[in-house]
Amino acid sequence: MADVFDMIVAGDIPAYKVYEDDDVLAFLDLSQVTPGHTLVVPKTHVADIFEYDEDLAARVLSKLPKIARAIKASDENIIGLNILSNNGEAAGQSVFHSHFHLIPRFANDGFDIPMPDHSEQTAEDTYKTLAANIASHMED
Ligand SMILES: [Zn+2]
Repeated sequence: MADVFDMIVAGDIPAYKVYEDDDVLAFLDLSQVTPGHTLVVPKTHVADIFEYDEDLAARVLSKLPKIARAIKASDENIIGLNILSNNGEAAGQSVFHSHFHLIPRFANDGFDIPMPDHSEQTAEDTYKTLAANIASHMED
């Protein structure tokens, strides 16, 4: 079933395109969290990060630096950039076609991404267990 990003890729819905090649389409997010806020989507439908194979990941993710540089170069007031991807409803994903938010940052832009620090409550053993558990699930 075609989602809104498939329809944009197909040209059935207009978008403010900033970059396109065989693998990705980049266009302005209508919400414009900050001016220049851009979405990068793979032209191939994958719902989220868990569905990428290495080839698709290489083809899509390798485009992020170039798009990020163009955004930064577009405005001398851009002093930073966040790259965000929400994967799964619990993570705040609302369109279930993988996408990366490139959000340029300006001085005092009022945007904040809370990153709680739980290091005080995380025991040494917990770090060891968590790391070993994730490592044991790594694909070849
Ligand atoms: Zn899709």
